[in-house]
Parts: sequence; structure tokens; C-alpha cells
Amino acid sequence: MALTEDLIALEQTLGAHNYKPLDVALVRGEGVFVYDVDGKQYLDCLSAYSAVNQGHCHPKILQAMVEQAKKLTLTSRAFHNDQLALFYQEIADLTGSHKVLPMNTGAEAVESAIKAVRKWGYEVKGVEKDKAEIIVCANNFHGRTMGIVGFSTDPDARGGFGPFAPGFRIIPFGDADALEKAITPNTVGFLVEPIQGEAGVIIPPEGYFRRVRQLCTDNNVTLILDEIQTGLGRTGKLLAEQHEGIEADVTLLGKALSGGFYPVSAVLSNSEVLGVLQPGQHGSTFGGNPLACAVARAALRVLTEEGMIENAAALGPYFLEGLAGIKSNHIRSVRGRGLMLAVDLHPEAGGARKFCHTLKEHGILAKDTHTDTIRIAPPLVITKKQIDDALEVFGKVLAG
Ligand SMILES: *Cc1c(COP(=O)(O)O)cnc(C)c1O
Repeated sequence: MALTEDLIALEQTLGAHNYKPLDVALVRGEGVFVYDVDGKQYLDCLSAYSAVNQGHCHPKILQAMVEQAKKLTLTSRAFHNDQLALFYQEIADLTGSHKVLPMNTGAEAVESAIKAVRKWGYEVKGVEKDKAEIIVCANNFHGRTMGIVGFSTDPDARGGFGPFAPGFRIIPFGDADALEKAITPNTVGFLVEPIQGEAGVIIPPEGYFRRVRQLCTDNNVTLILDEIQTGLGRTGKLLAEQHEGIEADVTLLGKALSGGFYPVSAVLSNSEVLGVLQPGQHGSTFGGNPLACAVARAALRVLTEEGMIENAAALGPYFLEGLAGIKSNHIRSVRGRGLMLAVDLHPEAGGARKFCHTLKEHGILAKDTHTDTIRIAPPLVITKKQIDDALEVFGKVLAG
């Protein structure tokens, strides 16, 4: 414990205080488990916000990373490398997208999509210069850069950081009528999460996305789905859009695209939207580098080869049912899709953070969100037995 306290104190002194982590200092991870400085084992029920869907330190991704790191890591896009084209090919085969733009962080993918969609609006849709509008949803989370926090509705995320870029309209999430009303001839895109993750795993009403898709098609508006958290198996499908049988015009991936080894993100689109970008108009020093591409290729490969998406589809409902069966006066409701789960507590329970602290004491790491919600998102390699063990702990900690 002394080492943990020393590390925490040092972080407190030297680091910006933009996070409030639980009191645990991790040194090692393997599969669904992580280990602290004292060797104590925890079941990871956050998966680095779904960046570690494939499990911690997946040996095949590790191998791909080490092999590539010994050969070539960064060329910049001034030259070709032997990994980028294969990354494009494999992600296109998997998702059916026609064009790919490689970036690094999720926020960069979002920013890149906004740029491409605006340019598409001017050059293809014919919107008047600087008049393009993008519709977004209240309680969205798309990242932390200036452009993105400007259309956040979270006072913590945007407070004190203005002035912000114009060109965004905010509507309620899950309300297709609101989208219909908000669309104008200048609307170029609708940017939305399939399930709002940071907002507390908010699942929209059945049929919402089918209507959204229709409205976007009818009005020549690009549907931009931010699948950075919901994508790559988390909800029991490769992409969450598949639950409603729709296809976005632009899909954003990040997080698990590298299995947690390295920041890798991508914008996927039909050929029209990313087709507007010409040499010199957008870029990234690290985007599309051979190390990132080799890691992402392995991360995608293990996801499908090892049946992780099917596992999420099979065990997500089992985990949810188990959570629903917990007898507790603290629990208001549970919800989830695949292995993206949440437990809502009554306000009288005293806040989710307290329970996350006790869960940690009992060997489970989970994250509170929005005061009264515990988010549960283990790596997709979790087994039925591990879920049973976890449910026992959840039952004990949430009892009362
Ligand atoms: C995490 C996340 C982002 C931002 O990704 P970063 O890599 O942290 O920049 C964007 N959108 C969604 C839905 C996310 O969950």
C-alpha cells in the first residue's frame, strides 16, 4: 500500500488534476485481469473505456507490435509503407467501407470527419461557403479537443474553454422528430453515438436509427456514427449500427482498433465523403504509420478469429440478467447491449463512486459515471465462470 500511496502523492503533486482515479496503481494486465503494485488481482470491468476489448496484452497483438517495432515504426505519409494498404484492405473487407482515413486518437477521427463532411457539403451538396451545419446530440461525448467540446452540453467539458467554433446544432438524443425539425438545406451531417457511452450507456428507442437513416438519406445529410466506444464487438456486433440493420455514411473507430496497445483511430466512409480530401488538405504525422497499422491489423484479426464478438453477444445478456437478479434496494435499473452494461442506483444510495470503491476492495474495477451509474464493460474475452464470480461480488457489494 505504501508504494501505491507514494505514486498517488507524486501524481497529485506533479500532474494536472484532470482525472480522479480510484486509489489503485496497476502494473500488469493479462486477459480480463489487471494486477496492482502489491500483486492483487482485479477483474477489469472498464477495459480502458472499451479500448481493451481484446483483453489486456493480447499475445498475438503483442507479437505483431514487437515484430513491427523491430522493422519500421514511422515513415510519415511522405512515403508509402508496406502495412498501410493491408490495413485499408482488411478494415474495408471487415466493414464494407470504401475509403479509410487513418488517425491516432478518437478525438482526431471525430475532428477529421467534421472537416471531411463540411468539405463534402460545400463541394458535393452545394452548401454556400461557411454555412455548413452539423447536428449533434445533447449529452454527447466525442472527445476533448476544442472543436468537439464546443458542441458538448457537459458544463465540465466546455466551461471556461470558449470561444467555440460555430456550425453545430444540438438536439435531444433518441428523438428522430427533433432531427427532422433541425435539418435545414445547410445541414451536412448528423454526428451521433449509437449508444451514448459516457452519458451512462443510454440506449435509444427501438427503430430510432432506422428513422435517422431515412431522414439523412431523404435530406442528403451524411450520417456520422461515432462507434469509437460501441464498435468492434462491444455491443455483440462488429458495429452497433448492425443492431438496426443500417449503414452509416461515415463511421468512426478508435479505442479497441489497437486492442489498447497504441492510439489508432480511423474514419471510414463511402467513397464520396473522404473522396473530397486532396493532398495537403488534411494529415497527421503518426496517422497510418506502419507500427499502428500492424497493431490494428492484429487487433482486428483476433477480434474475429477468436470469436470475441460472438462471446459478447452470448454473454452480455447473461451478465445483464445476473445484474437484474441482484436483490438490492439501491438499484434503480440495469441496462445494456452486449457487454456494454450499466447499473443505475437510486440517488439515496449515496452515489456510484462509493460502490466502485468497495468493488475495488473486492477485486473488481468499474467506473462510476454521472453520479449514480456504474458502468460495466469487461474485455470481450470474459468467460461465463468469470461473470458468475463477478455477479457474486456485485451482489455482495450492492446488497442493502
Ligand atoms: C473515447 C471516445 C472518444 C474520444 O477518443 P479519444 O481517443 O479519447 O480521443 C470519442 N467518441 C467516443 C464515443 C468515445 O467513447
